[in-house]
Amino acid sequence: MEKSLITPVRYLKGIGPRREIILQKLAINTVEDILYYFPRRYEDRTHFVPIAQLQEGKVSTVTGTIIGKRERQSFKRRGFHILEVLIGDDSGRIFCIWFNQRYLLDYFKTGVTIIVYGKVERYAGHLQLTNPEFEIVSDGETEAGEEKLNIGRIVPIYTTPEGIGQRTMRKVIKHAIDEYARFVKDYVPVEIRKCNQLSDRAVALAQIHFPENAATQQQAYQRLSFDEFLFFQLPLAIRKLKRQQKKGIVHQTRGALVDQFIQGLPFNLTRSQTACLAEIEADLKSQHAMQRLLQGDVGCGKTIVATIACMMAAQGGHQTAFMVPTEILARQHFEKITSQTNRLRIVLLTGSLAQAEKDEIISRIERGLVDVVIGTHALLEASVKFKHLGLVVIDEQHKFGVGQRSLLPAKGQNPDVLIMTATPIPRTLAITLYGDMDISVINQVPPGRGLIHSLLLSHEEREKAFSICRNEIKKGHQAYIIYPVIDESIALDIAGATSMYHELKKGALKDCRLGLVHGRMKQKEQEEAMSAFKSGTLDVLVATTVLEVGVDVSNATCMIIENAERFGLSQLHQLRGRVGRGSAESVCVLVTHLNPEEEEAARLQALVKHTDGFHIAEEDLKLRGPGDFFGSRQHGLTALRIGNPLTQMQLLKRAHDEAVRIIRNDPNLAAEANALLKEKLLQRFPEYEKVVMVG
Ligand code: ADP
Ligand code: MG
Repeated sequence: MEKSLITPVRYLKGIGPRREIILQKLAINTVEDILYYFPRRYEDRTHFVPIAQLQEGKVSTVTGTIIGKRERQSFKRRGFHILEVLIGDDSGRIFCIWFNQRYLLDYFKTGVTIIVYGKVERYAGHLQLTNPEFEIVSDGETEAGEEKLNIGRIVPIYTTPEGIGQRTMRKVIKHAIDEYARFVKDYVPVEIRKCNQLSDRAVALAQIHFPENAATQQQAYQRLSFDEFLFFQLPLAIRKLKRQQKKGIVHQTRGALVDQFIQGLPFNLTRSQTACLAEIEADLKSQHAMQRLLQGDVGCGKTIVATIACMMAAQGGHQTAFMVPTEILARQHFEKITSQTNRLRIVLLTGSLAQAEKDEIISRIERGLVDVVIGTHALLEASVKFKHLGLVVIDEQHKFGVGQRSLLPAKGQNPDVLIMTATPIPRTLAITLYGDMDISVINQVPPGRGLIHSLLLSHEEREKAFSICRNEIKKGHQAYIIYPVIDESIALDIAGATSMYHELKKGALKDCRLGLVHGRMKQKEQEEAMSAFKSGTLDVLVATTVLEVGVDVSNATCMIIENAERFGLSQLHQLRGRVGRGSAESVCVLVTHLNPEEEEAARLQALVKHTDGFHIAEEDLKLRGPGDFFGSRQHGLTALRIGNPLTQMQLLKRAHDEAVRIIRNDPNLAAEANALLKEKLLQRFPEYEKVVMVG
């Protein structure tokens, strides 16, 4: 068989049928796959710490010879097995201890050379290494030359599957590099490599596994991360260009409807709202179809901007589909807009409507008798058709999947699309992650808002939270109390909204008027509870996270969140955004089962300290990682194995800029210099065949 990068791994020395199966489970099928199986970390084995110089508390790597071993039972804990292995070098001796790993006993033969890596601890007056990682480097059967991979250099440490050890992995990968690196072609055009000081791909692959020194390892890391970012950005750049080439709707955005609406508002738009609106209006009026993300912290007033966009579409005779994630929110938007204007023909379409009513509304939409439809994902149903859909608004976009988001625009002829999110992320990151969209940011909160004070209490101090709550109610204000789940879990020590509602009613809040709302209640009951709260006939709303998005009651000044440790940071910030909407000062109390003083509660302390949503989102991102934060399927982030959008934001930005430039200069990747790039792109994203290939 002719050698190439797609040669199956079994052709590599050291890989037999058994190991081939193990590797296949890791999705390693070809030589190229194994070259892209990157080390988890490295160990500098050019210098080992002499045993005599080990210091307590330091993580160190030591090499030595096994002098002896013994096993015993713990004195203190019955059934606890302890394995002690004594190793020595020229300078001294030290015990390595493994707990309950009896099976290791046979590995450690006297006289072999071993490398151990772990934290140095003091026990009974002596230093020891407890449960260190280890590697037996010479057992008398080592092949010539193999030592060089495992010792005396920066050594790669892999996540090894059961059945393949570190040394085997290194040997196989080294072999793959030696035999196959010459087949590695560089698909990144030379010019781009030069401009960005990127090393050659073959070199980078060799250096990422067996770096000569820290600098070459870093170069390799940069280069391979860049590749990942570039292939992440190219499809976005292509999509954006293709979209811009398609003709969209030219809206007639100004007229009596819009002007009177804006003049009739009980407040002035903030400077930031006005700026965003201008960007949206320019898109609406232009030939190309808008694809815009409107970002802004909770409470900054995105909804009104979107509402005016709806008005602008209606002004020119086009319909708007306005999709939101929950029925509560749909109803609230509907009521708010209805109260602000009576010149817009607006309907509400949700899953809980009776069929006859739904049919009637759907028919009116289809006949063009409706300007704006506000609804949940019920809008996506095939039966919903528009006469002339001109604008699609999607609120809280992260609550919908990508598939769901693209269904709605497909109901029109290239309608303009406005997507809103209240989980703001840093601009550089937004530009790159949403590379196919334009972005507007509202970075100002309307004036006259009362401050929100936040505090964190332990579960034992929760009575204090309820006393604050009673106090707010005495002042004529209202409160939310949020629980992570509907039904309590005694095993997990999680309070549930339903039982707490009954408990509070009899106990801590017995003099208040309490309501309950959660997602499993009938739609009608949810609405009743919500409107009772809005109208002020309820003092307290006990709820689950159905309240997370959008709910807007400006008299609510108190929020208590129990089991706060159960929520994500951004989610807590969203919830907190339900208060502080009026001019009075508000308070948000997080109650946690964690010890507020302990490290584990640091996340919650960060929320208490910071009120800026961008900052909090950034923290949250760091804690959860981008994949989890954005929902990885949405952004192809799972394809990133080495690149990290957070720590390599600048590199990501450069890859973004290069992708845009490549596609702008050569939309179909037809140039000779881009041939390999195109091949690779189509290999990874076959769906681009249609898009890229058209001449
Ligand atoms: P969000 O960005 O979280 O969706 P909303 O659109 O719900 O924020 O706005 C929060 C509240 O602020 C609403 O009651 C809205 O009417 C009000 N609001 C919006 N813009 C302004 C403004 N420029 N001045 C005063 N109040 C405003
Ligand atoms: Mg909103």
